[in-house]
Amino acid sequence: MSKRYTITAALPYTNGPIHIGHLAGVYVPADIYARYKRLTENDVAFICGSDEHGVPITIKAKKEGVTPQEIVDRYHAIIKQSFEDFGITFDNYSRTSAKIHHETASEFFKTLYNKNEFVEEVSEQLYDAEANQFLADRFVVGTCPKCGNEESYGDQCESCGTSHNATDLINPKSAITGNVPSLKETKHWFLPLNKHEQFLKEWILYGDKKDWKSNVYGQCKSWLDDGLRPRAVTRDLDWGISVPVPGAEGKVLYVWFDAPIGYISATKEWAVRENKDWEPYWKDENTKLVHFIGKDNIVFHCIIFPAMLKAEGSYILPDNVPANEFLNLEGNKLSTSKNWAVWLPDYLQDFPDKQDVLRYTLTANAPETKDNDFTWADFQARNNNELVAIFGNFINRVVVLTNKYYGGIVPTPSDFSKVDEETLATIKAFPNVIESSLERYRFREASQELMNLARLGNKYLADEEPWKLVKTEEARTKTIMFVALQIASALATLSEPFLPFTSTKLKGMLCHSALDAESTWRDIATKKILLPANHQIEKGDLLFSKIEDSEIQAQLNKLEASKKANEAAKKVVEPQKETINFDNFKKLDMRVGTILNAEKMAKTKKLLILKVDTGIDVRTIVSGIAESFTTEEVIGKKVTVLVNLAPRALRGVESQGMILMTETAEGKLVFVNPDDAGVGNGLTIS
Ligand SMILES: [Zn+2]
Repeated sequence: MSKRYTITAALPYTNGPIHIGHLAGVYVPADIYARYKRLTENDVAFICGSDEHGVPITIKAKKEGVTPQEIVDRYHAIIKQSFEDFGITFDNYSRTSAKIHHETASEFFKTLYNKNEFVEEVSEQLYDAEANQFLADRFVVGTCPKCGNEESYGDQCESCGTSHNATDLINPKSAITGNVPSLKETKHWFLPLNKHEQFLKEWILYGDKKDWKSNVYGQCKSWLDDGLRPRAVTRDLDWGISVPVPGAEGKVLYVWFDAPIGYISATKEWAVRENKDWEPYWKDENTKLVHFIGKDNIVFHCIIFPAMLKAEGSYILPDNVPANEFLNLEGNKLSTSKNWAVWLPDYLQDFPDKQDVLRYTLTANAPETKDNDFTWADFQARNNNELVAIFGNFINRVVVLTNKYYGGIVPTPSDFSKVDEETLATIKAFPNVIESSLERYRFREASQELMNLARLGNKYLADEEPWKLVKTEEARTKTIMFVALQIASALATLSEPFLPFTSTKLKGMLCHSALDAESTWRDIATKKILLPANHQIEKGDLLFSKIEDSEIQAQLNKLEASKKANEAAKKVVEPQKETINFDNFKKLDMRVGTILNAEKMAKTKKLLILKVDTGIDVRTIVSGIAESFTTEEVIGKKVTVLVNLAPRALRGVESQGMILMTETAEGKLVFVNPDDAGVGNGLTIS
């Protein structure tokens, strides 16, 4: 039965491009769900947009010396493009800087204000006198009162997910100047969450939300058990939506107040474009509202936004909030600032036309019930062992053999064997099997069921071996190929939510559009024949191709480079040594020299025996540089030599002096070179 669905995906924050963690956590599952709901003939509004307000954008703009608008324009375009590239089928992708959003959010605030749903309060807030501004949200860092994380932000601790007020932080520090903030009085509007606590408890804990994912239900229960407190929904900032009431000059709405309203304004924008009425999508009891988010957003979507909607009074509440846990990358937390990520534009550059491989890998290994790890080895294995070896192999055999034996025309079957009948019956069961997983938001399981249908096809062909029978049992071969083509056709339709690009290609190869009536998702469960005899298919192409070890190694090398750069950035500059006087310095006799010869010291890894022309003489110096340089590389090199260092024996060779070196962050040695200006050996360095 057809139903109306409003499906939202977390608004990506517009201070950078998006990476695989975002895709795995929110956008791929949301898209699978939206596509599946459309395929099963529901009325769907799949809504998203850029979240363009809030403090991090203003911080980034300040750092780059540009306006916040320039930052959001830049990343809105990049993010929107990534979604299109990966086949995320939003019905509308809007942005919170849009006029319709400013109007909608203002109106929403005014409605609550007029209903006396806010508490207006002058209170002391953190203030940075040097920067001359209040320290809201990410402008302040301190210790989380709940978990002790020392780098918690003013509005939320990323470590434990708790949402709090900036004044709750222990040892707060300004993120702008590093100063300890003072307290200064300012007026704000608070949403009295405590007033909604009872309703939220009834709705979530005693209501019908037991079917929410356990991580979501558990977090909500913990907050509700702790008791809710009023939360300020306005800020002293100059970037955002102005607070639309008297006495609020210089104040804007808290980004987490306006962002979820972005779902509503994006729906309105879409409805105008499509000539529809937006209200049933948000106000009709029969509409199912589903929010796809990451686990860091649970409090906003399960506590604060529902409290806002309830306070407004005319809106429906979410039916489900299937939040995912986090995806890690090669064992480490994804991090924008540490460049520990796979950025979507980079992925497409390295793996053009392989969007489905990433969608599939991220789904098969989705962080649904716990944090999960993305590894390039797993990515390669999913592609080579599943998409290529199972799905691709089956389709290729069916298409190639149909073309080879019958010129691409679906053959007429004769009597079905018991195995044929069972196989045809099994195909019919697949839509329901996949649906039952999707209805419970188990996308990993659903994707594996899809792969099981391809497995079924592979096994059927391997058992029946049409290539052995084709010369001797013409009628039987035709029947086998007919059955295999039915599996291929079911795969073309059922793969659409998971592998949309592949599905389109496969439908093209099987010429679905030339059918009198192309089978829908539901038809597969009821119809015995999806591709009728005499239907012409095309020659087709390979759906997937093997990913080589070298391609995987290249990705691992990229990550290794990020790791090294991070380590280098972390490396502490050693403090200055004790002061010396000029007489001390004068004692050091440093000269320009040239390395005339070099040989490796036997049985050592590090040592080279060098012959160095110091201008004074040609002497032997033993130097620990063999791991950074070959002998050929150093012969002829101009170097700086400390010549009056007391000689000492290294492995039985007397070293008469020292060549000055430094070391890069990556541990490579570098010569401290005299400028190459034709300086002669023996010149003094002072
Ligand atoms: Zn915390």
